[in-house]
Amino acid sequence: MPLSETPYSAAAVVIRSRRAVLPDGERPADVLVRDGRIEQIAAHGSLLVGDQHLTDLGDTALLPGLVDTHVHVNEPGRTEWEGFATATRAAAAGGVTTVIDMPLNSIPPTTTVDGLDAKRKTAEGQAWVDLGFWGGAIPGNTADLEPLHRAGVFGFKSFLAPSGVDEFPHVEQADLESALTEQARIGALAIIHAEDPAVLAAAPQQPGVHYRDFLASRPDDAETTAVARLLDTARRTGARVHILHVSSAAVLPLLRQARADGVRVTAETCPHYLTLAAEQVPDGDTAFKCCPPIRDESNRDALWAALAAGEFIAVVSDHSPSTPDLKLLAEYGGSGDFAAAWGGIASLQLGLPAVWTEARRRGHSLSDVVRWMASGPASLVGLTGTKGAIAVGNDADLVAFDPDGEFAVQAAALHHRNPVTPYAGRTLTGAVRTTWLRGRVVDVAAAPFGRQITRS
Ligand SMILES: [Zn+2]
Repeated sequence: MPLSETPYSAAAVVIRSRRAVLPDGERPADVLVRDGRIEQIAAHGSLLVGDQHLTDLGDTALLPGLVDTHVHVNEPGRTEWEGFATATRAAAAGGVTTVIDMPLNSIPPTTTVDGLDAKRKTAEGQAWVDLGFWGGAIPGNTADLEPLHRAGVFGFKSFLAPSGVDEFPHVEQADLESALTEQARIGALAIIHAEDPAVLAAAPQQPGVHYRDFLASRPDDAETTAVARLLDTARRTGARVHILHVSSAAVLPLLRQARADGVRVTAETCPHYLTLAAEQVPDGDTAFKCCPPIRDESNRDALWAALAAGEFIAVVSDHSPSTPDLKLLAEYGGSGDFAAAWGGIASLQLGLPAVWTEARRRGHSLSDVVRWMASGPASLVGLTGTKGAIAVGNDADLVAFDPDGEFAVQAAALHHRNPVTPYAGRTLTGAVRTTWLRGRVVDVAAAPFGRQITRS
């Protein structure tokens, strides 16, 4: 049929896939996109447009763009660790179309409106995907929370144990009470790094290249003690809390009990806790160091069981790179000392294939992965209705994903600024072929058109 006879304007495009992952499951579909939004979802092959406006993916799956609510971009201030341009190119290449940046490791941190403005200004013209910001709640900044909330941050991160950077101190119990009371009042979401400093201080500290020594220095108890104290504080203040990067499955019964008691609590875990295990970490390979740590295989199985049971609202990267020298990697002349190395894992571009590789092996579907990595995190930050699902009215943030495409991870070939990732050398299944942001194909070699987004 000639283009002039098509029922849609030239601005409309149809993306056709025999494996479209929709909110009610996976099926063949045509997705009509106009003006950056999803206008219609129809039966496969039913929408008539000219060839130039049709992208037929065949058997390649069509997913909603992923929403990664846990990314440390580190710019301004520590741009040599990562940066808006490199992080968002990596995100786009990895099928992530929305990134929410963490408030620390940048200088200044996002603990004041001025700090937020500095980030927004720096990020301008550097975002290949849509980009939002978390604020930070630290000792002494309770008065800054409401102005930051009004300025559109998605919530406030606090650490219960030292964060690793001096300009973002952790909260003692009195600070936590103050922050959660204020966040309950203004209706903000508190997101918490839950490890207990007293338990960490009492744990055996044995520096060196042996991963088991590092693991012993950050025991399960550090997480359960911190989570118990947090849940108690949430119960008393009425604040809505979210536990970041749950590593220990021992916290799950605490979360179940708190939910049963009416505490508003959600939790996330991360690709590395689901796909890597302590038994496999080579001595001295500090690319695997993160806090809380990657634990053993039986713990990993328990995390998968909880994920399958719907106990985690999100699987997000906690992408937190540094320069190779701070990782003390042996191949860069470092000591490989787990105690002294920077604790953070780089995986923004690899989260989807890493999780899919393991999810498929365990019998999960693409719909499950989309729930954990797109619609779940979107709902956490109030973006349901805009992001995280192939649904009419949502932004046309889409990913063409080959679920059978295998590739070997080459750290230097990733868009991350630094070529360090624990996935280096692994073969992963699942390849991102194309990423669309609000209906336009993202080309990381061309100009960016990501937007800055705010809590609505
Ligand atoms: Zn983090």
